[in-house]
Amino acid sequence: MDIGKTRYSLDPHSHVRADFTFVSHAHIDHMHNPSRNEKVIASAVTKELAKARGYDLGETVEEAEGVELLDSGHILGSRAIRIQDEVYYTGDASGRIRAFLGRCRTRRARILVMETTYGTPEYVFPSTAKLVKEVNSVIASAYHRGTPVVLMGYPLGKAQLLSYFFSSWEPILYHESVAAMNRIHVNHGVALKPGREFDPVKDLERLPRGPWVMVSPMASGRSRLMAHLKKEYGAVLVAFSGWAMGAGYRYAMGADYSFPLSDHCDYQELINLVQAVSPEMVYTVHGFAAEFARDLRKMGFSARPLAAYQSSLSDYLNP
Ligand SMILES: [Zn+2]
Repeated sequence: MDIGKTRYSLDPHSHVRADFTFVSHAHIDHMHNPSRNEKVIASAVTKELAKARGYDLGETVEEAEGVELLDSGHILGSRAIRIQDEVYYTGDASGRIRAFLGRCRTRRARILVMETTYGTPEYVFPSTAKLVKEVNSVIASAYHRGTPVVLMGYPLGKAQLLSYFFSSWEPILYHESVAAMNRIHVNHGVALKPGREFDPVKDLERLPRGPWVMVSPMASGRSRLMAHLKKEYGAVLVAFSGWAMGAGYRYAMGADYSFPLSDHCDYQELINLVQAVSPEMVYTVHGFAAEFARDLRKMGFSARPLAAYQSSLSDYLNP
């Protein structure tokens, strides 16, 4: 997008010629290795998390003329960007407070570019408190039977929420990829309890017999690791994703239980976000982009999905 003489590129997958490149957060699908001359706007935490995941964002800035970064509530360090009062881009965003993560902060803008991962009405998530209570009762009954529980979610973001909510169970084990992300969170003041690190190569045959809780990356119950934990230790597998609102999710994942704990806005939160930004035009991206744009049009907004992921705003603002 060109505002004045400045061109911005938002979450590109590869280098795009622009004056500024914005990296909203450190999930792999939002990152690339910028070229040396690229001026990257990202939070310092995003830069650090990216580095731990093998991406070098180079020199980054959190401030630039006419630009405001706002907490998007998605994961640690995630930001939305407002460019003058012209554009507000959400990156990935959450509309609710979860443990140490706040909700997406909004500002008014003429154009809203938003993620719509869960942009259909069946995706309205239950309260986090209710969900935590239900998961605790699943863990309690497994402990009663003397069996362990594996809690599965993305290693950056979801796994730290799981570590935060369920580490009062003992012993608590963290898969090594989760432990690496937990350490960065602790360095930034997030109160995550220490636990035993699990190396899936060395420790597979050396886990305690009896109940324990492990926080692990998402994997199918049919994967080698999970099938082994089930067979050898009788582990109960619990998957966490917004997609768990769908009836077939638990079966598709080969999990024993699934819960809709999400790092994204649900349908109602997406609508609240649009109303808060109060834009003249909305562009939707990711997930149910066409469906959500259609619903917004019914509500009187001008809205359309991006045909494919367009990393340079000029692609669609000046078609
Ligand atoms: Zn993300």
